[in-house]
Amino acid sequence: MFQKWILCCICMCVLGLTAASSVQADRIAGTAESPRDDDQNWALPHTTVIIDVGHGGIDGGASHGDLLEKDINLAIAGKLYVLLSSQGIPAIMNRTDDYALSDDNRWHLSKSRHRKDLSQRRQLTEEIESELLVSLHVNAAKNKSRRGPLVLHQESGESALLAFCIQDALNRQQSTTALPKPGNPFYLLRRVEQPSVIVEMGFITNVEDRTMLSDSRRQLDIAKAIASGIRQYKWINH
Ligand SMILES: [Zn+2]
Repeated sequence: MFQKWILCCICMCVLGLTAASSVQADRIAGTAESPRDDDQNWALPHTTVIIDVGHGGIDGGASHGDLLEKDINLAIAGKLYVLLSSQGIPAIMNRTDDYALSDDNRWHLSKSRHRKDLSQRRQLTEEIESELLVSLHVNAAKNKSRRGPLVLHQESGESALLAFCIQDALNRQQSTTALPKPGNPFYLLRRVEQPSVIVEMGFITNVEDRTMLSDSRRQLDIAKAIASGIRQYKWINH
């Protein structure tokens, strides 16, 4: 990890990206620290949970009328952040407002905003030491009767266990019975080294789920379920 960080610093210096990196750091909730003129400037920020807040800015994600996935993700991420922090589980959000992470990415040569966005999310997971990553999303389907949570995981047993714990907690919260699934095609799950899961919290295309996803009190219930799944995972895994 340390070697990777050194390599990363070298790459950023070569590319002249130190300023962009500090902008990133300022935007990461919970990690703001005043700069110091000693070696600690080079210490990795660290936390337990990275909350990857899906989409943002020009990328609204799934939608129904004026209701946008990016706003639901951000609202629930904020609640999850507060819950975890109050339960003694350090967490950070990689997006705290409505902007595209691809805007911060000046180093990826791709012209694809989507590729830049994803690589920026992965880059942050390399710059911040963490135990696990939870990526928050909202599902959509042509079939409007499809509803309920679905957690996608990496191939590793730790990721599958994390997915099982969060899926189980969300199933109890939403009275559903889905099982977590491998999410191999997803870039973030393939490229992030920490145990990571994508949490599809419900379907924006289903009226019942949509009502839940856009109601502040019920958003808190979703956040509570995800937090309890994370606690369960940590309890089993340590
Ligand atoms: Zn999404």
